[in-house]
Amino acid sequence: MKLFNTLSQSLEDFVPLDDRKVRIYVCGITPYDTTHLGHAFTYVSFDTLMRYLEFRGYNINYVQNVTDIDDDILRKSRELGVTWDELGRRETERYLRDMDALNVRRPNVYPRATEETPAMIEIVQTLMAEGYAYESGGSVYFSVKRDPEFGHLARAIGLNDYASMLAIANERGNYPDDTRKRDPLDFVLWQAQAPGEPAWPSPWGPGRPGWHIECSAMSMKYLGPQIDIHGGGADLAFPHHTCEIAQSEHFTGKVPFSRIWMHTGMVHQDGEKMSKSLGNLTLVSDLLKTYSADAIRITLQNHHYRYPWECFPEDLQVATETVALFQQVRDIAGGQDGQDHLLHGQFIAAMENDLNTPQAMFLLRQAAESVAVNHDVNCGAEILRLTKVLGLIV
Ligand SMILES: [Zn+2]
Repeated sequence: MKLFNTLSQSLEDFVPLDDRKVRIYVCGITPYDTTHLGHAFTYVSFDTLMRYLEFRGYNINYVQNVTDIDDDILRKSRELGVTWDELGRRETERYLRDMDALNVRRPNVYPRATEETPAMIEIVQTLMAEGYAYESGGSVYFSVKRDPEFGHLARAIGLNDYASMLAIANERGNYPDDTRKRDPLDFVLWQAQAPGEPAWPSPWGPGRPGWHIECSAMSMKYLGPQIDIHGGGADLAFPHHTCEIAQSEHFTGKVPFSRIWMHTGMVHQDGEKMSKSLGNLTLVSDLLKTYSADAIRITLQNHHYRYPWECFPEDLQVATETVALFQQVRDIAGGQDGQDHLLHGQFIAAMENDLNTPQAMFLLRQAAESVAVNHDVNCGAEILRLTKVLGLIV
């Protein structure tokens, strides 16, 4: 199978480190608000990849984290008058409910950041001992200038110099004016407790982990020092994944931390990226009131995972018609045991080509249109088998 590696900017043959075992980590949610279509696109895309790899005979070990403490959670919990913990648990439940409804498999391990601080502290201590990190005012920072390797992934996506990296980091939660930092681009590994905020013990005093260190720690703890696939939305490539690579590779001395870095395109609404801050969200729970889970899944799969797109009501309408077509096939061939080698081969060729789900869906729809007319039970049974590989319920 060929997958596009963001780090090399090319299609690469997918060869797991360990024969038929696939170690995969996908960055999870920060549970302070409801799940929107942008989240669904990421998690359905990786769910489809894992289902396909399983169909091809691989064993999947899949870890996804919950970033259950951060600035947004603390702000929102103050607004709502609930504890950070209560808010996190409630929104995590809602997210899992939405994903369950879309037939997205749950991860094998689903760790919460606040329960994994010892693993993070161990990494930070090693980075300090090796001169990559420094303590300042009870916080610990990663020193980007001490790391000549820093920024491969950033450069791969076109952030070629310090200034362009800093500009994007500042848009995405960096605090350049933090006077405890030696350099504005340095990022926090451990954050000293602020008055009134929850904290966990550390060698540098009470505090909480930085976001990037969470994913490094949880990936390495549950999947080992090196993994096959690390994924997330395109906006995570920098700074989040770039920082993860720096921390992890200096901690273990093993390169690469992940063989393949996969990023999903942003979903747009009204011409802009769908985001909480812009308020232009299409919520999964709202869509489920009008459309079936299969129709939503097909809408997502009709778009290639790597590219940005905008969702229009017509997209969901077309997908609903596809669901009806597959139901017709089920009425014709459900419970039958036939095969169609041509369709099977074409489907695999599409999926092996960087998970080309739009092409795979086109093939299934085209075949289903024929079966609806000619009642070919063999082809119908094949279609139904392959819709299951895509995670459809039909
Ligand atoms: Zn992450």
